[in-house]
Amino acid sequence: MTSEPGFDLLIVGAGFGGLYMLHRARRLGLRALVIDKAGDVGGVWYYNRYPGARCDVESMQYSYSFDEALQQDWKWSERFAAQPEILAYARHVAERFDLRRDIRLNTAVVAAAYDEDAGLWRVRTGQDETLSAHFCVMATGCLSATRRPEFTGLETFRGRTLHTGDWPHEGVDFSGQRVGVIGTGSSGIQAIPMIAGQAAHLTVFQRTPNFSVPARNAPMDEDYERSWKDRYAELRERARIDTTSGTVYDKSTHKALEVDAEERQREYERRWRKGGVNFMHSFTDLMVDEQANRTAAEFVRTQIRLAVSDPVLAERLTPRDHPIGTKRICVDTDYHATFNRSNVRLVDLRESPIETFTPEGLRAGGQHHELDAVVLATGYDAMTGALLRMDITGRAGLKLSEAWRDGPRSYLGLMVAGFPNLFTLTGPGSPSVLSNMIFAIEQHVDWIADCLAWMGTHGRSTIEAEPEAQEEWVAHVNEIAEQTLFPRAASWYLGANVPGKARVFMPYAGGVVPYRRKCEAVAAAGYEGFRLSTAQHRKVEIA
Ligand code: NAP
Repeated sequence: MTSEPGFDLLIVGAGFGGLYMLHRARRLGLRALVIDKAGDVGGVWYYNRYPGARCDVESMQYSYSFDEALQQDWKWSERFAAQPEILAYARHVAERFDLRRDIRLNTAVVAAAYDEDAGLWRVRTGQDETLSAHFCVMATGCLSATRRPEFTGLETFRGRTLHTGDWPHEGVDFSGQRVGVIGTGSSGIQAIPMIAGQAAHLTVFQRTPNFSVPARNAPMDEDYERSWKDRYAELRERARIDTTSGTVYDKSTHKALEVDAEERQREYERRWRKGGVNFMHSFTDLMVDEQANRTAAEFVRTQIRLAVSDPVLAERLTPRDHPIGTKRICVDTDYHATFNRSNVRLVDLRESPIETFTPEGLRAGGQHHELDAVVLATGYDAMTGALLRMDITGRAGLKLSEAWRDGPRSYLGLMVAGFPNLFTLTGPGSPSVLSNMIFAIEQHVDWIADCLAWMGTHGRSTIEAEPEAQEEWVAHVNEIAEQTLFPRAASWYLGANVPGKARVFMPYAGGVVPYRRKCEAVAAAGYEGFRLSTAQHRKVEIA
């Protein structure tokens, strides 16, 4: 093994995180390479091609802010962009900033190990090639490791099995087919109305009903677009300093129970008509006060009763086991009304659990359902899955899987003690999935790039989270989560959707503003809580 690095920085993942990291690394004069197993850039937007896939953060905000010309030039066609347009945007960014020449596609990373003697990360690919670099950034995504439950007999099913998170690129024509969808999270709720419109018959297998708000998607309103483009700098800044999630919403200043029932109803109705997750900002305390939360949940339950003609069916579709918003709120177009269609049927898996797949379909609650295709909308091993599916080894042979046996531990969601020079983008312990992901990515990439520049200027070659700082941060993340209603749901935020996964509330629920302040303060204090050292044989060279 050579002690000469092939690169200064290896970046795993060519989604929005990897693309921007490469751009910033280049500006520092670093030799950086992005590696991705996919056939193109785009990350989750490369894979999530299921019918109805679109983002539920508004297009004007689910976009990079780092380049004024880019945000002025790019034209979004809809209020909420659909997957093909988001993928086209990622490709545009790759080309516009000439990133492709440093991106290696169709290359999976299977392992990464820290070579202490050489002070290098050795990254092994699926082609059994080993690349080395001083630094490694894991831009592997939080919802990228798909989860396929182990249903008995699934391998015997003669029809087609699909997963929303790994959809065939040529598309799927369900015309004339009997289709089953398992799962009613964000993906299922988007796909179900679209599949119902095409298939001969659709059976929805629901384990837990979910809260969903209407998207009210529409072609981009030109005045609205102009209002953003004229004030982008100001509005992006507002997202940074005056929001909880890095998305500018219609903020409320009232608690839910501070106003009377009529005013509360008016506010919920107003937001319901506007559409989108803005609904969850109706009052300031919906995520911390159970009684306040109940008023919003009850409003949404009433909407389900209004949308679904059959009251028994409406009740089956009504969530009652968790406070609204504690599982990621879904955003839909005609989801509940889809159950009024004569070709759609709901199977409640709590009453009729799936027993086995058969060659012709599946049996649930003693009844056989004949199916030509099954869509698994069963989600992801969130936040840690993509990292742990690689074999990552830090100092002294420490495996990440071992370090995270009882749940992920990280300092600021950026680094893990025992894994020097390895950064995680939007990792557990950062606001990440509780915020606008592109916003979260930009903040992390900027912090990492500034850190690398600082190390170059100060002649440091190694940075590593101090175990004590990490423990303190983990305790703080847990404490903040406990002050919210989030832990009340068996959600993927907690790892509850993966059998055997440690139950730890993974993202930082304190909001993007205090989080950014903490990151900035840490940097300003010379990277407090990180151990920085200088190896004899090398320093980071910043051009
Ligand atoms: P998800 O929210 O984890 O939903 C998975 C669904 O599958 C749940 O209904 C779950 O039921 C069900 N399920 C899992 N295992 C099952 C089993 N063994 N038997 C029966 N049902 C089972 O996954 P997702 O819908 O893919 O969404 C994941 C996240 O990705 C979202 O929360 C969101 O953050 C993101 N996303 C965003 C968008 C968007 O921007 N619009 C779209 C798609 C995804 P239980 O609830 O009972 O576990």
